[in-house]
Amino acid sequence: MKCPICRHGETRPGAVTVPLECGGMTIVFREVPALVCENCGEAFHDEAVTASLLKQAEQAAAAGVEIDVRRFAVAA
Ligand SMILES: [Zn+2]
Repeated sequence: MKCPICRHGETRPGAVTVPLECGGMTIVFREVPALVCENCGEAFHDEAVTASLLKQAEQAAAAGVEIDVRRFAVAA
């Protein structure tokens, strides 16, 4: 698709690192599937990926995690 941020690049399937911070916790997900703009580098995630990221971040927060780096797993 055409990148909605810069309006010049085309997005390509790829994987990116996504840092999340919430309530004093920092969690970094690696290898998150995304569409990445070849021009500006902006990454776009579909709804299922976004929902999974938030769910896993909530679970980590509930488990008392303060800082963590993990590989993203879709069916967690
Ligand atoms: Zn772009």
